[in-house]
Amino acid sequence: MKTVFFDVDTQLDFVYPAGALAVPGAEEIARQLIYLTQFAAANHIQIISTVDAHSEDDPEFKVWKPHCIVGTAGQQKVAATLAPGADPPQIIFEKQQINAFANPRLRPLLDSVNADRYVLYGVVTEYCVQSVAFGLLEMGARVELVTDAIKSLNASDEQVFLQRFREQGGLTLESHQVLAGGQ
Ligand SMILES: [Zn+2]
Repeated sequence: MKTVFFDVDTQLDFVYPAGALAVPGAEEIARQLIYLTQFAAANHIQIISTVDAHSEDDPEFKVWKPHCIVGTAGQQKVAATLAPGADPPQIIFEKQQINAFANPRLRPLLDSVNADRYVLYGVVTEYCVQSVAFGLLEMGARVELVTDAIKSLNASDEQVFLQRFREQGGLTLESHQVLAGGQ
């Protein structure tokens, strides 16, 4: 079974308390992000990392505060989520919309990677992570959501998502179970 780690939007503007669109409490998942990234690199597991990459006048800013503008510090990924020198190399996938699948390059990329198991984590649970989760399930993939390495903005929205995710065949587990090599 080929596994890919799918890391969603772990960028400074979201994860750090001083970030432009900080997710409250997101720094609490930093330790898990380190372990997952190092585990993937040590075990030659492909990491695909989506990143928001907005222009200064991005239409999304009519809805959300400006964030993750290309060229700013806040757009950068949390250092612990980078795996320089990893084999296979980490793939950084830039996107401009909440749903990574809105970028038509994602599906061909995933087809070429051809994984049958995705270990999914990052922020924000009920937005960008949710979009990836359902997109991967629609592809027929096995999706394992790491519940202590995600963060939501709204707890009840997160619960609604988690219920739908499980109903559609999604699996949930904690990071220690990923690191133990199973679930
Ligand atoms: Zn955005």
